[in-house]
Amino acid sequence: PSPRAIVEVGGEKPYAITIGPGLLDDGALLGAGLRGRHALLVSDGNVAPLYADRVTQALRAARPDVRIDGYFLPPGEASKTLAHFAEAIDALAATGATRDACVVALGGGVVGDLAGFVAACWMRGIDCVQIPTTLLAMVDSSVGGKTAVDLPQGKNLVGAFHPPRAVIADTEALLTLPPRELRAGLAEVVKYGAIRDAAFLDWLEDRADALLAGDDAALADAIARSCRHKAEIVERDPFERGERALLNFGHTFGHAIEAEQGFGGLNHGEAVAVGMVLAARLSARQGLAGEAEAERLAALLARFGLPVALPGGLDPAALLERMRLDKKAAADGLRFVLWDGIGAARVVAGVADEAVLAVLEK
Ligand code: NAD
Ligand code: ZN
Repeated sequence: PSPRAIVEVGGEKPYAITIGPGLLDDGALLGAGLRGRHALLVSDGNVAPLYADRVTQALRAARPDVRIDGYFLPPGEASKTLAHFAEAIDALAATGATRDACVVALGGGVVGDLAGFVAACWMRGIDCVQIPTTLLAMVDSSVGGKTAVDLPQGKNLVGAFHPPRAVIADTEALLTLPPRELRAGLAEVVKYGAIRDAAFLDWLEDRADALLAGDDAALADAIARSCRHKAEIVERDPFERGERALLNFGHTFGHAIEAEQGFGGLNHGEAVAVGMVLAARLSARQGLAGEAEAERLAALLARFGLPVALPGGLDPAALLERMRLDKKAAADGLRFVLWDGIGAARVVAGVADEAVLAVLEK
């Protein structure tokens, strides 16, 4: 068998993340999480043609007793809606699914978030096996149990905490991922180094070329190290009452950029890359860390082909207003995840508007 890494996530309902090549054909692994005789495979219009048959066949071979139905979304964030959620629930209902049914999420974060929410709601909660196929989903959205759909008023406004039963990340699926999506995932990988692991950031600098070239071993290592960080954080703070907020490094700026561009400009990872550089520069301006560390972070992100400066045409005052509206902003002035240097992030409240504007205008 091919080499694989396993990361355990502890907590009230522990589960394992398995990472490696060829896992989509491993029926025993894929089927181990199925307790009952029904499974609903949720995927999207890009991923299903590539991988749904393989996964279904592997599952059928290992678990001939399980009835497998499919529900496929049109690709993209625009599908993460209550309407598609309701369709998926109808698909479950039509199969006569009971409480031991399982939702299998095959796709990126859009599929994972929606399918996870379906699993959270059907009969007040059934199992969900996450099979992430984007780098972002492998290192972030499939782990930690946050599930949601969007409303016209904002992203992720309706959702639940519902940890998966298992996460299975086949690194070979990344071979078909558009390069821009791979780079977006690398932004979140860099984030783990930036907030809590300076040695990981060194490693990413060393392995940057291999990662960009899609080197399987390098990607598997990066995913496993990232998942270990996410696992440690969500184990200690499953409901985001404290430490989990550090995962929002770069995200207050990033969300504002995405929203201000009407979600048609930079993608999430790209906006977070710019946001992390701005957070590091704001940290330097507040006297917490040096400028050189901000520039080192920017250099690594740029090597990964990610943007590191605000796109043209964005108004700093409008971005500031967006950040005030962000649900992560607090009443006591703007709250940011800043750092004391590489690997040492912390939440800082009461950041003055002038400091934020100065960084946005630089
Ligand atoms: P996505 O699911 O839209 O996937 C990106 C694109 O890649 C889509 O077009 C998809 O069809 C395609 N794709 C996926 N896998 C592929 C593959 N292997 N080969 C070819 N094409 C493939 O986007 P994403 O970046 O994976 O996830 C973004 C979503 O994740 C957002 O909705 C965000 O809110 C959510 N998210 C959730 C959490 C969480 O904790 N739950 C964390 C971060 C992000
Ligand atoms: Zn993110």
